[in-house]
Amino acid sequence: MKVPLLDLKSQYQTIKDEILRVTEDVYESQYFILGPWVEKLEKAIAEYSNTEFAVGVSSGTDALLISLLAADVGPGDSVITTPYSFFASAGCVSRVGAKPVFVDIDRETFNISPDQAAKTIENLSAEDRERLKAVIPVHLYGQCANMDGILEIAKTYDLFVIEDAAQAIGAEYKGKRAGSMGDIGSFSFFPSKNLGAFGDGGIVTTSSEERADKLKILRAHGARPKYYHKVVGGNFRLDALQAAVVSVKLKHLDQWTRARQENAARYRELFDKAGLSEVLDLPVEKENRHIYNQFVIRVAEKRDELREYLKEAGIGTEVYYPVPLHLQDCFSYLGYNSGDFPVAEEAAQKTLALPIYPELTVEQQEYIVDTIKAFYLN
Ligand SMILES: *Cc1c(COP(=O)(O)O)cnc(C)c1O
Repeated sequence: MKVPLLDLKSQYQTIKDEILRVTEDVYESQYFILGPWVEKLEKAIAEYSNTEFAVGVSSGTDALLISLLAADVGPGDSVITTPYSFFASAGCVSRVGAKPVFVDIDRETFNISPDQAAKTIENLSAEDRERLKAVIPVHLYGQCANMDGILEIAKTYDLFVIEDAAQAIGAEYKGKRAGSMGDIGSFSFFPSKNLGAFGDGGIVTTSSEERADKLKILRAHGARPKYYHKVVGGNFRLDALQAAVVSVKLKHLDQWTRARQENAARYRELFDKAGLSEVLDLPVEKENRHIYNQFVIRVAEKRDELREYLKEAGIGTEVYYPVPLHLQDCFSYLGYNSGDFPVAEEAAQKTLALPIYPELTVEQQEYIVDTIKAFYLN
């Protein structure tokens, strides 16, 4: 049996007619960059995320970058974030000339730990504390970070809060939507995300009109009116084709999320029955609502061998992420060492993401758990 990590082709078959209709509309209009489809999507995402405004941009990475530009973070500044995320969460900090300051994660949620953040900040010199300008909590795997803790720290130290919600559209923390709790929420429409475009794309949410306006200016090279540049921005524009595709998919998102949650519940039953002591942890639903961008287990040993065994059995998995950010070559200048963030480092060695996409069948899930069982019992 074949079980890919993600099966976008089968999802496409269910929405093909709608997609072809809207993309044809874009072709007929010959209006490709920004325009009515982008504005329509911006309204829909703002509503979905419970914010006042949304600004469509060229990718999730650019969403983070433009958020930092909007917060005036630059050379000499530093930004608190997690070492256990996709590279962009910290890469964008460097890109604007600022310095990432890493903080270890919560063992259960894999998200930045507010307690550790408070300790890290207290241990900084007064001068370094002055340099802190922002914090980027990442809602990893589709579950929100502990936002009460983060917002309290942000208030104490006057930090701008950018939620990296690239994996968490529709996730909730105490009833609040991802992207609605910080100053800015940053989303990705990369094809493999829960709400994926047919190419690169992203969006930024905010409830401040002034900030939304600033984001729009920055998105088009800092110009207003055209050819009169107030600030140096960039080309961070979203194109109409992507906006049209995402608008169609957004209507199905809640149904897909329910299917992911059902799959997660079924994994729990299957693993429970299998009773494998080597599978240490299933995802902990600590901050509801978890939207299961990923279903990540933690195993006691032989993670890489297990992965290879599953691959040979036709099952796709992934390691998000094998090298924590503080140990990446490009960040060696920051001076971190192995052992600095033990929880993130352990996660990098022991976690494995299993297929969780909405179209996954019961038989496929049974096959996955049976194959994991066969690996550890042999
Ligand atoms: C995917 C992702 C991004 C970057 O999004 P792109 O659209 O690929 O640029 C940023 N942060 C996190 C946590 C992500 O998962």
